[in-house]
Amino acid sequence: MHEISLVRTIFRTLEEQFQPEELARIESIQLKVGPLANVDAILLKNAFDAVVEQEETRFSATQLMVNEIPILIECTACGQTSTVENYRFVCAQCGLPSANVVQGNELLIERVSLR
Ligand SMILES: [Zn+2]
Repeated sequence: MHEISLVRTIFRTLEEQFQPEELARIESIQLKVGPLANVDAILLKNAFDAVVEQEETRFSATQLMVNEIPILIECTACGQTSTVENYRFVCAQCGLPSANVVQGNELLIERVSLR
């Protein structure tokens, strides 16, 4: 389950970005996750709870939020940006297939709120 190592990576990243007294005040962590990042939001939240309980109890009052964003493609023929639904990589305007993904690979810490 690679979500566990992802969660550990998130905590290591926060340790690099924040001072210890700030870490103790983190109220919520919001992630931005695209469908192509190969991360399951439910598994990620379960992994977060498990890591907090067993290794990172100082984050026991921290909430994880996952902002799931859609896949966007940009058509190389007409320039239109379309939302990909049901993994149909087709331009909404001209109907041509496009693999020119401009959003959907993200796996980012979008926002950290301190209390
Ligand atoms: Zn098009």
